[in-house]
Amino acid sequence: MADDDRLRTVDEHLAIVLDGIGSIDPIELTLLDAQGLLLAENVSADFPLPSFDNSAMDGYAVRAIDTRDAAEGDPTVLQVVGDVAAGARARSGMGPGLAMRIMTGAPIPAGADAVIPLEDTDRGLARVAVGRPVRTGECLRRAGEDLAAGAPALGAGAALGPQQLALLAALGRDRVTVRPRPRVTILSTGSELIEVGRTPSFGEVIDSNSYMIAAAARDAGADARRIGIVADDHSALLDALENQLLRADVLVTTGGVSMGAYDVVKEALSELGTVEFTKVAMQPGRPQGFGHLGNKVPIFCLPGNPVSSLVSFETFVRPAIRKLLGKRSLNRATVQATALEGATSTHGTRQYRRGVLHRESSGGYSVSFIGGPGSHLLASLALSNCLVVIDEEVTSVSAGEQVTVVPLLLSNR
Ligand code: AMP
Ligand code: MG
Repeated sequence: MADDDRLRTVDEHLAIVLDGIGSIDPIELTLLDAQGLLLAENVSADFPLPSFDNSAMDGYAVRAIDTRDAAEGDPTVLQVVGDVAAGARARSGMGPGLAMRIMTGAPIPAGADAVIPLEDTDRGLARVAVGRPVRTGECLRRAGEDLAAGAPALGAGAALGPQQLALLAALGRDRVTVRPRPRVTILSTGSELIEVGRTPSFGEVIDSNSYMIAAAARDAGADARRIGIVADDHSALLDALENQLLRADVLVTTGGVSMGAYDVVKEALSELGTVEFTKVAMQPGRPQGFGHLGNKVPIFCLPGNPVSSLVSFETFVRPAIRKLLGKRSLNRATVQATALEGATSTHGTRQYRRGVLHRESSGGYSVSFIGGPGSHLLASLALSNCLVVIDEEVTSVSAGEQVTVVPLLLSNR
């Protein structure tokens, strides 16, 4: 159990969490399934790119030497002996004084060593007048000039966006080995909770946390799954968690971690000895549980109030998911913004206030607070687009001061 005298700082708790996050074995995925993930292998070119000499322009394949004396007023006339379209097999038949009409991407016929663009000719079909000398190699894309056979293309750790997927496809790779999306399973606890779609009776509360946390986990890059609601009951909770152990890389519960008489998550999991419940010097989000189940699967036990849940997720779970994804930067980027109003905070506690971040026409940011410090305020949470961080040693912020803001940008994956 944590030392009750001194609260653990956010940074200390995050360090303990990240220390308890291992890695997931790489898997092979098809290209589009690998989008947004990190490569877990070194990929080199099995064949050169481009794989054959081809034309960079629509024009005429020629022997450069034949155009040596061409001039605008005194063009050189070459006999056109054929057409080469993209996808055509390389043609032979080029000899002195001859040309072939060629399209962009079509293979250069044997014997030709340059292409003159259409616009520098009279576009003739049987014969073509060339109005200037052509340099050897002009308008040619050489085999291997993009990537030579055997050359490294992408290294392990490369993030796979559209450009990288294009290169992999061009190299003939339809599947690649990547760091997988962690499978994150979300469980809501609380005997008052009911599924959305039902009408709550007096005292019942619709489970909203599991949608919020599942969405946040997906946004962080996880493959997230809700498994519904468990009542405040020891064995129901342990059974539900045990059922998920083989299917999850990370377990997240919400609710039941405070000091209340029915805070079953804390009671039941403390007994196992592998999950630690602690108090972190933050507001909201003070009670936190973290550890492992089945000795291996990390579990986060977040407080149940929606704002506390989200702030806890952002602060501890999101970095853990990103670590599992293999990402180097685990925390969200922050910006400095001018506070539009004042706020107070307890000394020694890091406060996270919900905010609305505005981009000023001058280029900087300003932020207003929304929702007050109450952790149950879902409507204002839904209007916020950032968290404002008031550091441990700061007890008040005045209007006009610079504050640190974490924009909660949607990644769209
Ligand atoms: P707890 O952390 O279990 O003490 O819950 C704190 C507050 O959050 C209570 O008002 C709960 O009803 C509420 N709450 C807990 N879990 C959820 C949930 N999944 N969805 C919405 N509200 C919840
Ligand atoms: Mg509860």
